[in-house]
Amino acid sequence: MKQIILAPYVFTEIRDKHVLYYNSLNGEKIITSDNKIIKTFSRRENNYNIIKIEENLLHLDWVKSFIDEVEQKKIGIIVSYDKVAPIQFAPVISIQNEYGQKKVSKDNSYNSFLNLRELTIVLNAKYSYEDLKQNRKGNSNLLLESETYSVDYQLINNFIDPLYLSESVHRINLNGYNILEYKHFDDLIAMLYKFFNRTQICFNFNTLDVLNDLNKLIALMELPKSKFIFNLRDENHKSHMNTINRYLSGKNIEFNCYIENIDEAEKYNDLQIENRKINYIPSYNGSNLDFFEENVFLNKNDVLSFKPTQNEVFKNMNINSKYFGKLIINAIGDVYANMLQDSLGNISTNSIQEILDAEFQNGNSWFLTRSKVSPCNKCIFNILCPPISSYEFELKRYNLCHIN
Ligand code: SF4
Repeated sequence: MKQIILAPYVFTEIRDKHVLYYNSLNGEKIITSDNKIIKTFSRRENNYNIIKIEENLLHLDWVKSFIDEVEQKKIGIIVSYDKVAPIQFAPVISIQNEYGQKKVSKDNSYNSFLNLRELTIVLNAKYSYEDLKQNRKGNSNLLLESETYSVDYQLINNFIDPLYLSESVHRINLNGYNILEYKHFDDLIAMLYKFFNRTQICFNFNTLDVLNDLNKLIALMELPKSKFIFNLRDENHKSHMNTINRYLSGKNIEFNCYIENIDEAEKYNDLQIENRKINYIPSYNGSNLDFFEENVFLNKNDVLSFKPTQNEVFKNMNINSKYFGKLIINAIGDVYANMLQDSLGNISTNSIQEILDAEFQNGNSWFLTRSKVSPCNKCIFNILCPPISSYEFELKRYNLCHIN
């Protein structure tokens, strides 16, 4: 008797009359929609990585050619046996105490608190009524045209108090229209020192006039493990970049350039800052879909070039690694796992544990995988594609690709 033994790191994905065999060790793939092959080779025994073959098929050209491809791509091997068939386990991940089970256990995966990795605090913001309508639905007390908000220092301090002894939070992002103008700035710095050396504090600047406030900048530079990110949304910012770079020499700095169209991409193309990383980030403004279709959407070759490791495939199957472990607190205290979804609560009324439990048990960001949304749930590439990102919420479609 004969059977194909697929390697233990080979994933089989069957969706909508297509099958994908993916070798997560070398990135090789076999994709077919051939009905004969799917019928013959996609039936695996008891979820093992074993495919039984009837001997009378072995002389057929299409069978020989499929087996050749399987062996050549190191996806599997064909073996003969007499009485006892060999077995091979398929790659499966065992998640103890899966979210929503409400079981008490010592396993860390149940304790959502321990899964918090990154916290973003928007210290100040100018919200318009429209922003509020989108991000804080149904709050009729905030019917303002445009107002500057600052996060309440005492509330934020109480909210994150349980994190000081936590080993899990490895990054805190401070964001806002101008974080140096935050009125409790000194208290905030004192608070950040409580995280000692284990947490990176990342300062996001949306204005480059930071050199006007040198004393505050120096205080930030003294924090251990600090990182400075400067967001460029205006060509005029270019002139400040070299000055900032000189002033913060030796510090961890990155520059983000937000690009809405090809002209902007060309304008920023000549940006060069010694020894510094510049990230070019496409930005959706509601009317530049063409730019996204040409420059951001995936085509089939892009997807075929992806070679996620076994761990990355497991992540793609179970969590959304863009959002997992992250929370954002906006300047009015609302807390989100994803700013483009509903808020999970507010720092004035909910503890951090309640917020995390809400996302862990009923939220729709940390566990938003492609297999849960259309049309990706019918696509064999769903285990290979990068996780759903904020672009997809902004563009109101999950398939930023030219495939489905
Ligand atoms: S984005 Fe969705 S539909 Fe497009 S290739 Fe990936 S999984 Fe398939």
